[in-house]
Amino acid sequence: MNVLEERSMKNRQPEILIATRNTGKIRELEILLADLPFRLRGLNSFSNIFDPEETGATFTENAVLKAKSYSLQTKLLSIADDSGLQVEALNGAPGVFSARYAGEDASDQDRIKKLLGELNEIRQRRARFVCVMAVADQEGDVKFIEEGVCSGTIALSARGAHGFGYDPIFIPDGFSATFGALPNAVKQQISHRARAVAKIIQQLRRFYAALT
Ligand code: IMP
Repeated sequence: MNVLEERSMKNRQPEILIATRNTGKIRELEILLADLPFRLRGLNSFSNIFDPEETGATFTENAVLKAKSYSLQTKLLSIADDSGLQVEALNGAPGVFSARYAGEDASDQDRIKKLLGELNEIRQRRARFVCVMAVADQEGDVKFIEEGVCSGTIALSARGAHGFGYDPIFIPDGFSATFGALPNAVKQQISHRARAVAKIIQQLRRFYAALT
């Protein structure tokens, strides 16, 4: 196939919205979804899209409200996710508040500092990253919801500069380094997002097979 044929084929593929403005997540999802026959659009390629308030008490509620809102606004099939870190010794906190754990304008470093402070001298450091993904069609109807989990422990201090968010303090089970210090390729294979995406890909393949 020459370049023009390839481009024209790509233009005929259905579009899917990756409904997030988090560039770390977009980068990861682009790689994870690369072999699907869809054109991926990010929220940044639209103007005048408002972000719904994440008022849900669970990851699932937030993923669903985002998928519905963005698909209705863009008229595209939309994949939205909600994710975060649950620490056992903190009864599941920061959970759905992971992004806002140290206040609205805080940085990743602020959130890490706060979490390490809360866990000061606590030896039980089990934690898990959770990602729930919801897909809604052009009418805002939720088609499927999937969850991915990655279990591990919270390090005593931040290490490594890869990834984003809490990656420098999260040591996935089976490794001795944090996500921040491990190669990105390792995270792409075992992360909560990778696990949720793997399930979503199966669903999307079935969904489109039924349509064609
Ligand atoms: P969301 O954008 O509402 O899903 O917020 C998720 C928040 O959880 C992010 O801002 C990060 O602080 C944290 N988080 C989610 N996934 C990851 C990850 O893969 N690595 C590190 N932090 C994450």
